[in-house]
Amino acid sequence: MISQLDNRKHVKFLKRHLELLPSSHQEHDPNKMAIIFYSIMGLAALKIDVCKEYKANLHWLHKHYRTIRSPDSQETISGFTGSFSMLISSVNCLSLPNTLFAILTCRTLKDEEFFHEIIDPKGVASFVGRCQDPEVGSFTSTLDYKRLIPSPVDTGDLRFCYIAVAILQLIGFTNEGELKEFIDVEKLIQYILAQQCADGGFGSYGEPHAGYTSCALSALSLLGKLDRLSDCFKERTISWLVSRQVSNQGCMRFQEGNDCFDSEDHGGFQGRENKFADTCYVFWCLNSLRLLTPDGCELPIQPDLAEDFLINRTQNNVIGGFSKNDQDDPDLYHTCLGIAALAMLDGSFDGVLFIPKGITV
Ligand SMILES: [Zn+2]
Repeated sequence: MISQLDNRKHVKFLKRHLELLPSSHQEHDPNKMAIIFYSIMGLAALKIDVCKEYKANLHWLHKHYRTIRSPDSQETISGFTGSFSMLISSVNCLSLPNTLFAILTCRTLKDEEFFHEIIDPKGVASFVGRCQDPEVGSFTSTLDYKRLIPSPVDTGDLRFCYIAVAILQLIGFTNEGELKEFIDVEKLIQYILAQQCADGGFGSYGEPHAGYTSCALSALSLLGKLDRLSDCFKERTISWLVSRQVSNQGCMRFQEGNDCFDSEDHGGFQGRENKFADTCYVFWCLNSLRLLTPDGCELPIQPDLAEDFLINRTQNNVIGGFSKNDQDDPDLYHTCLGIAALAMLDGSFDGVLFIPKGITV
């Protein structure tokens, strides 16, 4: 339960990332939108009044919103850049992940000015649409730096498909007719379906991965197309996800012969077969299972053991935050994902859009 957390230390840990970082952290400048997003989202999931504390900083965030005119037409595309140091005039520098991080941050801070005055929803949707590979249906994270086509040095994958669909949803393009104006919905669905794995789950080259599985299911859910998956595949996926919860019970002979078995991982989730449990995969597996489990039904896993893994193994009781396992130092990503997983178990977090429930602008 989120109430069992040592909130005071976690709040301090998260706020530290929003304060001035030392110059030794300058190399992280291109990642600052992610740093802001994970910190704000973690604080909001802990029910801190982030609007009161951080709304005044939104003008700084708005400066990262850029509009570019395409050289071949009068079309404008809009989105967020991650860093001023990457801005070069006449060169496109928009990024799909930074655009989602910024829009979700604006939504969490109830930024009426951004959603009602600043954003050009059609410009942002055009940027998203231009990131789609017209042949394959997948999305890349950026465009070519001069021509506004999917970046040839970036490969499309399920993460960016999810990010594209989530951005469109958050800026108000929700039904298929509206979406079709900007993206090829059917090609996207075909690409997602082609990443299904024989054992259940989604992944590249036939190997299921819990993170990609969550992205694929969330994207289909936002598109209203979960029914494109067969019942048989859904059942195999549920069974594959349930098997990702690590247990130290059962056949010890098998476990002792497995290099990736740690009895301390009991109750945690792994991202792939034969891997150690990791804080972030509690979130990715729970979100996927929630999407495949009918409303009102209990999840077919042991939530109390998952909570126990997070609270007693990966939570850092000294400086706050969560680490990936019980060996590493805590980091911002695993802190946010650990808190989000606990909030989702409490029913207070929307895992599909990755935002606390009930936030409207
Ligand atoms: Zn992880």
